[in-house]
Amino acid sequence: MEAPTAIKRRLNELGLRTRLRARPRAQGRVLAPAGLFRRLPSAPGLFFPFYHDVLPEYAGDLRRHLLRMRRIGTMVTWDEALAVLAGDRPLTGPTFCLNFDDGHLSWRDVVVPMLLELELPATFFLTSGLVGRPGNLSWDDVRDIQRAGFRFGSHTVTHHRLADQDDTEIWHEIVDSKKEIEDQLGCAVRDFAAPYGYPRVDFTEREVRVAEQAGYRSFASTRRPAMHAGDSPMRIHRQGLHPAWPLMAVRTRVHD
Ligand SMILES: [Zn+2]
Repeated sequence: MEAPTAIKRRLNELGLRTRLRARPRAQGRVLAPAGLFRRLPSAPGLFFPFYHDVLPEYAGDLRRHLLRMRRIGTMVTWDEALAVLAGDRPLTGPTFCLNFDDGHLSWRDVVVPMLLELELPATFFLTSGLVGRPGNLSWDDVRDIQRAGFRFGSHTVTHHRLADQDDTEIWHEIVDSKKEIEDQLGCAVRDFAAPYGYPRVDFTEREVRVAEQAGYRSFASTRRPAMHAGDSPMRIHRQGLHPAWPLMAVRTRVHD
């Protein structure tokens, strides 16, 4: 059993983390020193860096991250990344498969214009129940992004933690989100990203099995190590980043 002081320390850490998350530049400065001991990757490895909202004030920062990734590695689509895992595409150096979560308006206003300008591919994981709600994309926005050449995966209906839900709710989150996005976009949705995403805490094997049964070909978590040929597409590792972080902080998440 955990000692009370350890619990207290953990709660303090969580409180600090929550406060820092609301202040991403401060969070980046706190993370940065740990980046001293890391380097951005130089060895062959597949990374799935992802972001959430990118407010206009962070546009220049996101551009800096993306330009660095493009300089040190290859930027690939989700299909190409799965081909790497299947061993059908060589992994010759650091390789980045960019993705975004939730359904933020800033995808339309900030992210997509930048990706088009820099000619970078990306996949967007959509929380279907948020679409059309205030502060989120509309289905017309989502279709515009699709027409601009980007792909969509599912990020559940409600964004609740999967591990906390019963079997009926899980089915709704995983299957109904897929159906709704497919109906709205007129194309197959076969990639899934679990909210929060930490294995055995935020989701369990049960959800991976349901996703498989529902016809998904990939399931993304937030475990972070680089991936390689032979790794399972139902166990995708992703590296959550905030554009406000200095590259030194990015190195704590994306490294060899
Ligand atoms: Zn999310």
